[in-house]
Amino acid sequence: MVTDPVNLADRVRADFPILGTGLDDGTPLSYLDNAATTQKPAQVLEAVMRYYQTANSNVGRSVHAYSMRASDAYESARRTVQGFLNAEDAQQIVFTKGTTESINTVALAYESVLTEGDEVVITGMEHHSNLLPWRRLCERTGSTLRVVPLQPAGGVTLEAFRDSLSERTRLVAVAHVSNVLGTVNPVQEMIAEAHRRGVPVLVDGAQAVAHRPVDVQALDADYYCFSGHKMYAPMGIGVLYGKAEHLERLQPALTGGGVARGVSWAGEIEYLPVPNRLEAGTPNIGGAVGLAAAATYLGDLGFDQVVAHDQGLTHRLRDSLAGAGNVRVLGDRHEGAIVTFAVEGLHPYDVGNHLSAAGVMVRTGVHCAIPMADHLGLVGTVRASVGVYNTEDEIDRLVDAIGTVQPGFW
Ligand code: PLP
Repeated sequence: MVTDPVNLADRVRADFPILGTGLDDGTPLSYLDNAATTQKPAQVLEAVMRYYQTANSNVGRSVHAYSMRASDAYESARRTVQGFLNAEDAQQIVFTKGTTESINTVALAYESVLTEGDEVVITGMEHHSNLLPWRRLCERTGSTLRVVPLQPAGGVTLEAFRDSLSERTRLVAVAHVSNVLGTVNPVQEMIAEAHRRGVPVLVDGAQAVAHRPVDVQALDADYYCFSGHKMYAPMGIGVLYGKAEHLERLQPALTGGGVARGVSWAGEIEYLPVPNRLEAGTPNIGGAVGLAAAATYLGDLGFDQVVAHDQGLTHRLRDSLAGAGNVRVLGDRHEGAIVTFAVEGLHPYDVGNHLSAAGVMVRTGVHCAIPMADHLGLVGTVRASVGVYNTEDEIDRLVDAIGTVQPGFW
């Protein structure tokens, strides 16, 4: 059963200590920049603190009690993330720094897979983190980066996607949800289409995992990447999920401690199985613990409620902004938790400053997706993005502040 959206915020707001703070003059703060990063609930902060207070050590290195506890905590976090994504096996969860590192891990490994004339397909809406690694891969291997063209409103059609695939396509990399417009791509259909040609697909789930249930088996995704910090977990921890048959073939992008079981001067290096061989160096164990706590937190809230909550707020915001004469709401597939707009005659940074003075925090600019801004023909946009703790009142504060922003206001 879906609850009233406001009840979700009412229920969870007290979990987030930072939300109690305001501006120095007492103006309440509305945090609507959740697509950049989310705030962290006490449950996550406490899990991390508990780990450091009771188990802090290195994993898989020593036999003493703390090391055992740390190893248990780390592997237990892996199992929790496995459940969160409905992955087949916990060993398919590779912990990384975040989406960027996850994507680079795959892109660097593909340098030994791709040859001249091969093709990698991405879409025109990708974040630079799902664009630049592929561009570099293509430059280094003599492959071609094919970009699925965008519709005027910023989405892609399945037909255009199909047309971008060819005999030489070796990999597709696509955002689950656009970080610029919140557009939700039909990734399940795209994956099925690519698989018909035997092409694996990497999904950039950075903007998806906090807002919709993700089932990597149902999607049939070959790789799925995300960052903990955008789903109420600490910064510096993320995930690369991969099907076993793919992960096992990836050459490690980084090498060092923790990846090998056999090293001699003369012989071959005997690497450990995945995920260890893809996690060189001391991992972010406390971060993994925090990520698991965030996954549990979201699971306990229930995605039916999270989705209803997000959509209630984004619909309210979109409808209110659409009624304001000088505001252009961008995009046409608004299922996500993002509303992006431009105010006629005003630079997005000026709008951002005006909102900031009113205690409303949003993101302004090109959102690390310059080709997308070029496609929209704008120097930048204003992006409001919601999380589980946001309220209707915060949305209304944003709308009220936009109502007082005028060209030539300063
Ligand atoms: N992909 C998308 C769609 C994003 O929104 C972001 C961050 O905004 C990233 C990738 C990069 O994430 P991170 O900086 O956490 O690695």
